[in-house]
Amino acid sequence: MKIVMLGAPGAGKGTQALNIAKEYGIPHISTGDIFRANIKNQTELGMKAKEYMDKGALVPDEVTIGMLLSRIEEDDCKNGFVLDGFPRTIPQADSLKKALSDKNTKIDFAVDIEVPDEDIINRMSGRRACTKCGGTYHIVFNPPKQEGICDNCGSELVQRADDKPETVLERLKTYHELTQPLIDFYKQENVLVEVDGTKKPSEVLEDILGALK
Ligand code: ADP
Ligand code: AMP
Repeated sequence: MKIVMLGAPGAGKGTQALNIAKEYGIPHISTGDIFRANIKNQTELGMKAKEYMDKGALVPDEVTIGMLLSRIEEDDCKNGFVLDGFPRTIPQADSLKKALSDKNTKIDFAVDIEVPDEDIINRMSGRRACTKCGGTYHIVFNPPKQEGICDNCGSELVQRADDKPETVLERLKTYHELTQPLIDFYKQENVLVEVDGTKKPSEVLEDILGALK
């Protein structure tokens, strides 16, 4: 199963991608997590990505596309994957389509999680993230069992540097301009699934899994 997650920053892509990945036994691949791991390890790629991420802009396609295409070549992707945060531009979606079609395969579902902009700022200010396994929580809407600790791997939870309101507004602008057009792209591919992301996380998951059956 090859799945792409769509939706505004904070719509719940990461939260649901982890659940879907568990359900199907496929890897959850977040380009944002890959960039953050590179920043933490102070790699050249990380230093370059940070410049853009801090501003709420997208990391250039020249950097992002190659990185993602080589990730999905790895062994654990043989039975599919859930992409979270990629593609974010039409050229990224075109490159992914071409790389998959060269192997006679394609994206099975693009899941668009719909949440109005008004709800996004609240979600982001309370978001806490695990830097080790990519687990995502919210201090009110989806709290971890023990405050500040990841349920999944026991590591410390942190607030993301780009979750401050000014950057979130910039990220929303970037989303509407460059990423939202992908909804039409995948509609034309006949693989689009749209779900109401304002429901509780467990209900959103139920709606997604129901639609993928
Ligand atoms: P994205 O990956 O799309 O940026 P996340 O999955 O990180 O979004 O979710 C953003 C924030 O909203 C997190 O704090 C998460 O715990 C919370 N969240 C996710 N799904 C829901 C939901 N259905 N209702 C309320 N809060 C949610
Ligand atoms: P995310 O963790 O998905 O919210 O991504 C955090 C940040 O990483 C984004 O605001 C972008 O700056 C960068 N990023 C992640 N994925 C991509 C992508 N596919 N293309 C360009 N930039 C990306």
